[in-house]
Amino acid sequence: MPLYEYECIKCRNKLEKALTAIEKKPDKKTAQSVVKKYDTIHSVEIVDLDEKELLAQAGERDDKCPDFDFYFDQGSLMVLVNMDRYRFSELIYEKEDEKKVECYCGEKKNVERVVSSFSFTSDLSTNMPKPDLSELPPDVRSKMFISDYIEEKDRPKKNR
Ligand SMILES: [Zn+2]
Repeated sequence: MPLYEYECIKCRNKLEKALTAIEKKPDKKTAQSVVKKYDTIHSVEIVDLDEKELLAQAGERDDKCPDFDFYFDQGSLMVLVNMDRYRFSELIYEKEDEKKVECYCGEKKNVERVVSSFSFTSDLSTNMPKPDLSELPPDVRSKMFISDYIEEKDRPKKNR
């Protein structure tokens, strides 16, 4: 029985638009506007990794929702987004089952199958990867929502 992974195109588009706006102008105003504009996005944090400085923060993190990290400017700018889940997996027994696939936002049609990046046994609700914030000084980290950065020993082994 295949377990397929799906992504909601509607939710993903909101995220992409938000990231495009942030990349263009990574400041507090943009962070605030995307949190306000896109209902699936709960909070946005923009961190300058070169200066190790929190540039902007907007919205309120929802602990039940996953955090995604994105990097711009050759990796010197990190954007942390806390948003509703838009990637999910479904067990599909027959073709008809695919029609019942539904995103957390209620979207059914604009959902597409993606190549799974999770192992079949992982629990999507608790196993969302967290960004590595260990490089940031404690005073920056303490201002961020995700201050419980991952200890060296708990970090996933990177393929190099
Ligand atoms: Zn959705």
